[in-house]
Amino acid sequence: MTSIDNYLTIDVEDYFQVSAFEDIIRTDDWDGMEHRVVRNTENVLELLDQYDTKATFFIVGWVAEKYPHLVRNIHNRGHSIGCHSYWHRKVYDLSPEQFRDDTARVKAILEEIIGEPVLGYRAPSYSITANSLWAIDILKELGFTYDSSIFPIHHDTYGIPDAPRFAYRHANGLLEYPISTAILLGRKIPVSGGVFSAISLLVYLFMSSKNQPQR
Ligand SMILES: [Zn+2]
Repeated sequence: MTSIDNYLTIDVEDYFQVSAFEDIIRTDDWDGMEHRVVRNTENVLELLDQYDTKATFFIVGWVAEKYPHLVRNIHNRGHSIGCHSYWHRKVYDLSPEQFRDDTARVKAILEEIIGEPVLGYRAPSYSITANSLWAIDILKELGFTYDSSIFPIHHDTYGIPDAPRFAYRHANGLLEYPISTAILLGRKIPVSGGVFSAISLLVYLFMSSKNQPQR
């Protein structure tokens, strides 16, 4: 069997925590919603086992605190554990102090559960942009060795279009694993992330602006 150099990542959050609902569903209401994250994640774990595939799971702290057995289950099956914030708030909506507190909190929760350092971070909704690049230094200070939050595309709520498409190091040494893009018909298009499933990818291709720079 040939080895393939790629990485598969999965964000672990419940449906009511997505950014699209942040103005509709208050965090106070999360407890009262039907929780589906455990069952759905266990289905994903079964599928990965079936294909003998490992992934990195970026987990929301609120979910980890409520369902530590889910975190242990993911870890025990040999997958990597990363942080996906505590409250799933966009980084650029926070002050640097709020970001530091939120991120330190989720990191401590996950490390307590698995008994190992947690080294990777993914921002909710890829919200490390040109306006919130200060987060990179805070991640380094908190002991992370890599980030996977920067989407090198044009988008109305996220993206740094000129950022590299493949792994690179920030000036402070933190590794960045960018969100995946592909070149199709001469255009750089997103190929991952919740919104960009098959149909929306085609819509994006035809609707996105014609002056998108190519890389
Ligand atoms: Zn998320």
